[in-house]
Amino acid sequence: MDTLAFPDPLIDDPQRLQALRRYAVLDTPMEPAYDELADMAGHICAAPVALISFLDRERQWFKAAMGLAVQETPLDQSICRYAARQTGVFVVPDLALDPRFAHFDIVTQEHPMRFYAGAPLVTPDGYVLGTLCVLDYVPRLLAPRLQELMLALARQVIRLLELKRANERQGHMLVELEEARRQMAVLAHTDVLTGLSNRRAFTERLRQELALLQRGGEPASLLMLDVDHFKRVNDLHGHHAGDMALQHVAALCREVFRAADVVSRWGGEEFMALLPATGVDQAGAVAERLHAALAARPVPGIEPALVLTASMGLSAFEPLHPLDITLRTLDAAMYTAKREGRNRTVAV
Ligand code: GH3
Ligand code: MG
Ligand code: MG
Repeated sequence: MDTLAFPDPLIDDPQRLQALRRYAVLDTPMEPAYDELADMAGHICAAPVALISFLDRERQWFKAAMGLAVQETPLDQSICRYAARQTGVFVVPDLALDPRFAHFDIVTQEHPMRFYAGAPLVTPDGYVLGTLCVLDYVPRLLAPRLQELMLALARQVIRLLELKRANERQGHMLVELEEARRQMAVLAHTDVLTGLSNRRAFTERLRQELALLQRGGEPASLLMLDVDHFKRVNDLHGHHAGDMALQHVAALCREVFRAADVVSRWGGEEFMALLPATGVDQAGAVAERLHAALAARPVPGIEPALVLTASMGLSAFEPLHPLDITLRTLDAAMYTAKREGRNRTVAV
């Protein structure tokens, strides 16, 4: 192999550089696993210096450097650039006698390096990332069996890199999985149209509140709301306008109720609210505010103006009654409001 010029197509190959980047190894701290592989290479070859070198665009960077205090060198001082072109181990028996390397700093320095042997680090998809190499201060050779072991250690370096990448991928997947699980949990509790609590989540919350009340918690109230003549809204304005109307009711509920209250879409055009630590009188005032808000605020974006009314049933959340009895009582109160002319609240 003659002296290699610049630009160097092997070094600059964008796909090779991309392969190097995907392992995210450049400029990472020293790690015992890599040090140990370099150490083994040095011992096996009885060489005082052993390096794990990665060929970046403009430098070679050392992940491990045993017997040499160096972090990186420019590419025009790189013997590894030559080794990267071999499938086997690249051996230079005497650097001082090799015109390609005789002028390199490590060969002209006070204690010159004389011997080099480097095994390429080849990824499973065939890109050369750098080398595992050994150097010595005396000219020498490397037995074929030792060259085989160098190649085996170079494969171990690649396995380490692959393992780290697989671990990171798995870590990312776990994060994504956790996020998906969280979103699923939110969706499982949310009504898609209005974003309110759905019936399942609300029932769960009712059970919790009931348990609290049975242990002597502060009295709570329940409110059931059914939009009046909602079928007509669909019939006159279309189903889409009906959906918008339900979203409007949900938005008004969010405004009128307090943060501690839980509002849910109980069914089609029926809503339910739990008002913890709220007596029926106070809850009645909230219901009145909701009637007023509905009257004052037509459904946005619908012509001619669509003003909704609702009938509501209101009751105390009785700790001694089973939940289904409480809900039936509430339903009956709401239907009384319907019978008595709609657009009103009946408390029991
Ligand atoms: P009332 O005053 O007695 O409550 O009359 P109403 O028309 O509101 O009562 P009814 O139960 O007869 O009709 C409810 C309607 O609500 C029927 C159904 O098509 C409509 N509805 C239920 N869910 C949805 C929905 O998600 N979107 C739309 N657009 N309409 C819905
Ligand atoms: Mg209804
Ligand atoms: Mg209705």
